[in-house]
Amino acid sequence: MSIGIKAKWVIAFDGQENRLLRDGVVIIEGQRIEFVGKNYTGKIDRWIEAPTHVVTAGFICTHTHASSAPKDKSFIDDTGAPSLYMSSLGENLSALGKSIKPEDYHVFAKYSMAELLRSGCTTMLEIGMVGTLGAETAVKYIDEVGMRAVEGEGISDGRWVRHQEANFMTVWDDPEKGLKQLEKAEKFIKKYDGEANGRLIGALYPSTVDQVSMGLQKAVREKADELKCPVSVHAGQWVVEFQNMIRMYKKTPIEFLHHTGLLRDDLVIGHGWALAGHPLLAYPPVQGTNDYELLAKSGATVSHDPLVFIKRGNKMHSHSKYLAHGINVSIGCDTSPQDMLNEMRMASYTSKLADWSCFSGSAREIFNSATLGGATAIGRDDLGKIAKGCLADLTIINMETINNVPCRDPVKNIVNASSRSDVDYVIVNGEIIVENGKLLTIDEEELVKQVQKTTEGVWNRIPENHYLKQHSDEVSPQSFKPWD
Ligand SMILES: [Zn+2]
Repeated sequence: MSIGIKAKWVIAFDGQENRLLRDGVVIIEGQRIEFVGKNYTGKIDRWIEAPTHVVTAGFICTHTHASSAPKDKSFIDDTGAPSLYMSSLGENLSALGKSIKPEDYHVFAKYSMAELLRSGCTTMLEIGMVGTLGAETAVKYIDEVGMRAVEGEGISDGRWVRHQEANFMTVWDDPEKGLKQLEKAEKFIKKYDGEANGRLIGALYPSTVDQVSMGLQKAVREKADELKCPVSVHAGQWVVEFQNMIRMYKKTPIEFLHHTGLLRDDLVIGHGWALAGHPLLAYPPVQGTNDYELLAKSGATVSHDPLVFIKRGNKMHSHSKYLAHGINVSIGCDTSPQDMLNEMRMASYTSKLADWSCFSGSAREIFNSATLGGATAIGRDDLGKIAKGCLADLTIINMETINNVPCRDPVKNIVNASSRSDVDYVIVNGEIIVENGKLLTIDEEELVKQVQKTTEGVWNRIPENHYLKQHSDEVSPQSFKPWD
């Protein structure tokens, strides 16, 4: 099937960089983009008229936990543990996580994909669905919903254990456990990579830098070289992790990834903000190595996932500073709401605040991170841009809405003004998944009801799973007291 799009603007790639094509035409033939330009005279099965719209490459979310992230909404806001430098890891997040029943993961996974698609996101690097739903079901849902997904099995041979109420430390399990998980992860990739009409991209997911031993990190590196697949790890994600890595290895998380060999151009690091030199760490880069330089030299990607950290008063020090060092930076969601437009806006504003500068986190930089940066992260030259031969993953956003008028520069408006309701079409692999703002592959009304009911159950089970047996209103107080 061929689809033609006539739009007021197309953000098109000229082989070197993105350009703004006025009154442009994009032609899709099957799964790929056949033509980008001004005039097209060939025969087309279906035309989409987009007279007030901009066509962009679909956004690539490089960090999400689809089967669990929705639980965060209406709960983790305004909460955290001061003793853990405001992080929710190990505190309310673990109580919430343990309160999810196996059947809840199914509802959350579908909802996450719906949230992401409606925000113009066409590809997600997703961590968790395979482990919580089982490989077959995870792949089936991705196939049915129509997203492109980077997926894999989790790999770890360590756990965080609380000591003396506040102190989180890593406890190491049998190394065989991690190696068995790596074997399972390899089997997943060999079986499912390329499934769902090529939309499934197999990856290796060593969980976190401080829960995967040196030996296991080296084994993952060897396997990734053999399989030539993306790898993703959590590192530089909270102060406690940074301090524990210094205590365990006398190395920063990034230095350790470099030491084990995991730090290479196929590695996507969520969230990579806790680097030597970050003001919250009081750990200057004085060791002779420099986290920024190690990242830049390796070609690894830092997935900037601003919202979850902004909510804790933490932040990546500057999006632009990473780019200026030559580090590839992409954008992800991690928490709920899973909304790439919102994350892009937060990434821009965080950077401006970090640098005390209006020039930092420009719309151009942030848009490129959410598209080109994401494609580089997962090693795909045929995604993240609108050019002949690329896969047809496209988002069409209306620029004449209450959010977006007046529009002179659609890139600035996407980053600074647009919201989900402006996203009229989302096309993945040449298939229309969102049309006139409605998802075609999911019953949204039914899904909304299921998510509300499911999450009410999760909140009710908090006391069974909180380490101090607190109930949900104690862990996350309501904004206003009830009127009894
Ligand atoms: Zn994560």
